[in-house]
Amino acid sequence: MKQTVAVLTRHDKARLIAPALSQFGWQLSEVDSFDTDTLGSFAGGHSRFMTAQECAFRKAALAADMSGQNIGIGSEGSFAVGPFGIGTYNLELICCINVSAGWAVTGRFYGPSLAQQWRLTDAESLQLALAGVEPGQYLVLQQGHYLKKALTAAQAHNLALLRFSYGEVTLSYDLRAHLSPQRRLHIQQAADDLARRLQHLCPHCASPGFWPDKALPGLPCEACGVATSLTRQRQALCQRCGYTETKPVAASHASQQYCQECNP
Ligand SMILES: [Zn+2]
Ligand SMILES: [Zn+2]
Repeated sequence: MKQTVAVLTRHDKARLIAPALSQFGWQLSEVDSFDTDTLGSFAGGHSRFMTAQECAFRKAALAADMSGQNIGIGSEGSFAVGPFGIGTYNLELICCINVSAGWAVTGRFYGPSLAQQWRLTDAESLQLALAGVEPGQYLVLQQGHYLKKALTAAQAHNLALLRFSYGEVTLSYDLRAHLSPQRRLHIQQAADDLARRLQHLCPHCASPGFWPDKALPGLPCEACGVATSLTRQRQALCQRCGYTETKPVAASHASQQYCQECNP
């Protein structure tokens, strides 16, 4: 039997999430009467007051609440400087909660984004910037208080040429899901991750989301046997009943290069 699951979203995200979750017999229905942008939006306008995880959870709870359905889904994306301060990274979270059964599971994607920003003053640098933008990616043009969103590359090109007579123009990616092909792909990957986690049930209480998230260090050095900082075991913890399961990783020893004693 099909079960209706409420998704709190604007920008047509349910369509991206639905394929990964169809295996559970879920029919996604969008709840769009709530302005999710008031929970914080990277497209500008509202300041953030929750972490991305809290935001996704809150949206999922709102979806269930507002629709009267048992299961609600909320998604949240954010962009920040990547590891080691290099590039821009995209974090996509999709949280699924079941109000009557009392569980919440979050799927995630984290990886590099193509998102860029340019400060431009002439046609040549504009041409160069636009040449690297992937097809179907929309742009934002800003100049002082002047702001235009959802521009195609061609529109951004023409508008920038006009605005150059007033000075420097800032051009950047419009990262809203319906305007960014790469972000849509990342949301689909987060949905796949959610589906994988939903398939893993707690052996004790059968709640979904029993997933070995926690890495325990201490893999012994291959040469001297001293514990290294590499992962020795992975632990799954049931959020509902507290049951834990710890499993060793495939590797039995760490390479000498990770050893504090052999390679300090
Ligand atoms: Zn459990
Ligand atoms: Zn060693």
